[in-house]
Amino acid sequence: MRTLEEKTAIVVGSGIAGASICYALSKQNINTILLESESAPAKHASGNPIGVVYPFLTKHKTAESEFSLIAYTHFLEVWERLGLENSVPHANGIHFLLETESNVDRYWHSLLSHQIPESIAKQSFEPNSQKKALYFPKGKALSPAILTKELIRLAHPTMKLQSTLVSWREKESDGKLICETNEEKFEVDFLFLAQGYQFTKDPFSNWIPMKQVRGQIVQIPSAFFQNQTSILYGDYLTAEINGERVLGASFDEFHLEIEPRINETITMWETLQSKLPILHNDWKTVDVSQFGTRVSYRTQSQDRHPVVGKLPNLSTLDTTVKYQNMFRKDHKPFQIPYYESVGILNGLGSRGLTHSLLAAEILVKSILNQTMDIPNNLINSLKPDRFLLRMWKRDQLT
Ligand SMILES: Cc1cc2nc3c(=O)[nH]c(=O)nc-3n(C[C@H](O)[C@H](O)[C@H](O)COP(=O)(O)OP(=O)(O)OC[C@H]3O[C@@H](n4cnc5c(N)ncnc54)[C@H](O)[C@@H]3O)c2cc1C
Repeated sequence: MRTLEEKTAIVVGSGIAGASICYALSKQNINTILLESESAPAKHASGNPIGVVYPFLTKHKTAESEFSLIAYTHFLEVWERLGLENSVPHANGIHFLLETESNVDRYWHSLLSHQIPESIAKQSFEPNSQKKALYFPKGKALSPAILTKELIRLAHPTMKLQSTLVSWREKESDGKLICETNEEKFEVDFLFLAQGYQFTKDPFSNWIPMKQVRGQIVQIPSAFFQNQTSILYGDYLTAEINGERVLGASFDEFHLEIEPRINETITMWETLQSKLPILHNDWKTVDVSQFGTRVSYRTQSQDRHPVVGKLPNLSTLDTTVKYQNMFRKDHKPFQIPYYESVGILNGLGSRGLTHSLLAAEILVKSILNQTMDIPNNLINSLKPDRFLLRMWKRDQLT
């Protein structure tokens, strides 16, 4: 039998998801080829100048909040282990403003219900607004593009730029995968799909209910404000990195044009002014049209939870098995067939930076059938299977 060192994987997409998969594969010593359509990594969602890293929390434990918290602590461990503070521009400290009593109640409870230590999150006041806040001392504003490139550098895959995966298939004889790009043809052992919103072009995964969501951010010269930490209040204003701050982000799932919208910049600016009036002395004299803007696209799943796992093979699904017959004596069980060596990491929504490292670790270990010290219900909650099961129950698979 061939060892992992003798096996080859293709990773499609060099955003933070693809980079995280390359890093997880490098720990397994698997030869990796990273395909990227663009001329450089992190040109799409992972290319924003600054993004924030912190966990999603709910009042009581849910699969989403538990995964997010574990992913956040995993991110911090990897950050420390790889010494990323020396290579990725960043600023520590995130204040999440709690402006209503129900928000205060939700987040104070979440600290207790998730048993979160003060080193991760604590009750606090944001110094500029003097509003109650949840404070993440190790939460970060950082450069997503540099983080992505740094992970790729550490994993050192064979990088193929301007190389687009156009088709792939599984060979019946030996389960190997034939992947064709615009330039070459590869025969490999594993395939990992991390194309972001362009997953719709892949006929084997475009049934997964995910959608493209437009987001616009504004780049503000750092001298405008003095905040030392990033401040989140629905929108966010980051701490300074490389001479600028980012005000973000808009959210539009219906109109997706790439051109920036000045009205969106004005709305974000006015919201910032109303939430943090003391940050700036003379708001009225500022010409917001002078600020840089950037539009990019999140990929968001139907339930807003990431999509991580072995890819189901719909072409061999037995659609004669009906949910309505489930309680009959001689019913056939519903079984999901898979492409055993093909994994997907997508649907990272608005938290790709926080979630992708752990998601990639889970994905690679599940394709290699290795166990992980993570509760099974969390791993299962991420699988694309959940959508198939929902479709099956609603009789939508025919
Ligand atoms: C405005 C905005 C603000 C955000 N702010 C934050 C934040 O503060 N914190 C946070 O955690 N998250 C944030 N996010 C979310 C985060 O940016 C995303 O979750 C993350 O970047 C998604 O990474 P990805 O690798 O899945 O996708 P992408 O970065 O889009 O990468 C996909 C890559 O695949 C390539 N590709 C596609 N198809 C093919 C193909 N067939 N062959 C070869 N290559 C292909 C593309 O060229 C692209 O490089 C924000 C998102 C937006 C839009």
